[in-house]
Amino acid sequence: MKNPKINIAIDGYSSSGKSTLAKALAKKLNYLYIDSGAMYRAITWYISKNNIELNHSNLSKLLEGADIELSNENGKTKVRLNQIDISDEIRTMEISNMVSEVAAVSAVRKYLVQLQQSYGINKGVVMDGRDIGSVVFPDAELKFFMNADLVTRSKRRLLEMQAKGDQEVSEEEVLQNLEHRDKIDSTRADSPLVQTSDAIVLDNSSIDFEDLLEEAYSIALKKISLAQ
Ligand code: C5P
Repeated sequence: MKNPKINIAIDGYSSSGKSTLAKALAKKLNYLYIDSGAMYRAITWYISKNNIELNHSNLSKLLEGADIELSNENGKTKVRLNQIDISDEIRTMEISNMVSEVAAVSAVRKYLVQLQQSYGINKGVVMDGRDIGSVVFPDAELKFFMNADLVTRSKRRLLEMQAKGDQEVSEEEVLQNLEHRDKIDSTRADSPLVQTSDAIVLDNSSIDFEDLLEEAYSIALKKISLAQ
């Protein structure tokens, strides 16, 4: 087959640098980058704005009213919910503090996993999240699992938030939020964060980003050539 495409799953802990790597790798390969965490954040925003109870008996039906659209504009992920641009709102501490509880609800996961899988039908997708290699694309040709120590991750997240103009938040607050989300994400009953046995582990604590990207890119090229 000419120019075969593969799907690439990148899973790992919060703020381990998954999105930065996924976005850069997708750009180098000319693939579509999908930030699955942004979808969980968008649903959290929707649930919060509409005061929807997480244990509502008809939650699945209510979620159908949330039309989520992701696009990449000037290297940034734009998130629209029912046509409203909520790209900045979903990155606030308020949403970060709620998102893991929302993401632990099976009806939410079911709704979003379907949407995520639809993006991968024709291959050529780099998607990052927590359950991409285990649940969304269990047959992905290439799976990475990323980690970095907690302090490195908190510093990274703080810098990102400050760059977006949020000067109020402290490093301690960010660190606590990451610990809280890691715990819920890795212990929930439905699709917990796991490192699958076929995932290649990348530690992003100290390695230079360009080196990391080169490593991931050369592994991806090998996998693509095997898919010929
Ligand atoms: O990737 P990000 O940190 O923005 O994700 C926000 C939250 O969404 C995570 O802490 C996790 O609770 C949830 N999530 C998930 N499954 C994914 C992606 C994100 O449960 N595939």
